[in-house]
Amino acid sequence: MKLALQIERYLPQQVLELVRDISEEASRLGQKVYLVGGVVRDLLLGYPNLDLDLVIEGDAVKLAQQVAAIRQIKLVIYSRFGTAKLNYGNFTLDMATARGETYAKPGALPTVTPGIINNDLFRRDFSINAMAISLMSNNYGELVDPYQGRSDLEHHLIRILHSKSFSDDATRILRAIRYEQRLGFELELQTAHLLKQYIPMLDTISGDRIRHELELIFKEKHPEHVIKRLGELGVLQRINPSLRGNSWIAEKFDKVRPLSKPSQLSSLYLCLFIYSLRERENEQFIRRLNMPTKLARTLRDMLHLKNQLCLLDKSSINHSEIYYLLHEYDPLAIQANMLVSESSTVRSNLELFLTKLRFVKVSLNGEKLKRLGIPAGPELGKILQVLHKAKLDGEVKTRAEEEKLALSLKP
Ligand code: ATP
Ligand code: MG
Repeated sequence: MKLALQIERYLPQQVLELVRDISEEASRLGQKVYLVGGVVRDLLLGYPNLDLDLVIEGDAVKLAQQVAAIRQIKLVIYSRFGTAKLNYGNFTLDMATARGETYAKPGALPTVTPGIINNDLFRRDFSINAMAISLMSNNYGELVDPYQGRSDLEHHLIRILHSKSFSDDATRILRAIRYEQRLGFELELQTAHLLKQYIPMLDTISGDRIRHELELIFKEKHPEHVIKRLGELGVLQRINPSLRGNSWIAEKFDKVRPLSKPSQLSSLYLCLFIYSLRERENEQFIRRLNMPTKLARTLRDMLHLKNQLCLLDKSSINHSEIYYLLHEYDPLAIQANMLVSESSTVRSNLELFLTKLRFVKVSLNGEKLKRLGIPAGPELGKILQVLHKAKLDGEVKTRAEEEKLALSLKP
């Protein structure tokens, strides 16, 4: 099958020119270049994809360096993996040397050997991700499809390439369900059978890798569909016995989506995902996923605050009381609770803190108080605190009122 026309239509002109330069330089060096993986899948489906992966039968890093020098493009080299990344406008172009892989033991990172395109495709997760398109001038646009990926695309099937695939790398269990739900496909029968059988192999996967796959799920348009299905299959429970994928989560994910800043959405999803866990279960989860300190703090804060929300369920509460209850919590943890709380009073008190109270500052500081004749020392700190509280509660508004109050408190 020739896809030359589809490539020309699918990729923007600038990228086509760059790709042409790469393949010309490659043939000068006696190497071959292919477009591979997700972009081939999406090109056949007619979906956009701005992450281009190129596989080179030859030295990818050397080729990338040559092209970057000719074109004056920024290049990042990952010498450990023999890969290079070119950033080009909205596009990223990853270049990797074709390689085969063997797994010393399940879940371990693979041992890599240089190879040809077919070996490189064989190490991939699913047939729909194991296709390539030649970019060489003699067979430009030719589809390389040794595992019937195109037929599986047409039949809407997710299929692994061999029966040990899930045991070699159980993150593929999470990936399979992510693609199944994103594309509205089905697991091929044998794949479905092996997926269920190998769920326990998730225990061989490091926390960092599980977390990475969870982050990829949270980047999906509808992560709640993936989470629900993973729950039904018992995959979530294998990661932590208390995790669930129920309709409550789906409802909250739907609610948070339009309200969150894009950069915070993934962390908020994570908060909602673990909202029903007890603090002890959360600690297990944090340990299992080797959660970075900052994110772990957000999750701990969220559950801790969840147990304090009753203190905020009264409309007569002072602003300063709200402030002192909340000021040590991570704002994301507060936002997550705001999204979830059933009480409109609690929600509006949390919102008041997030939008106003946490930004309230007194105009005076230590230096200015000293100039008013208040001596340095612990008293001065106390006066500043009283001023802050009075400002929060609206008892002082202007700088003159702050000064008046400060002088009245002078020891
Ligand atoms: P997406 O649209 O989600 O980015 P993608 O196919 O580009 O899909 P990536 O996670 O970017 O997925 O990975 C690029 C390619 O690398 C995949 O198409 C797949 O061929 C291969 N790949 C990624 N992870 C694995 C894995 N765990 N096992 C085997 N192959 C993998
Ligand atoms: Mg990708």
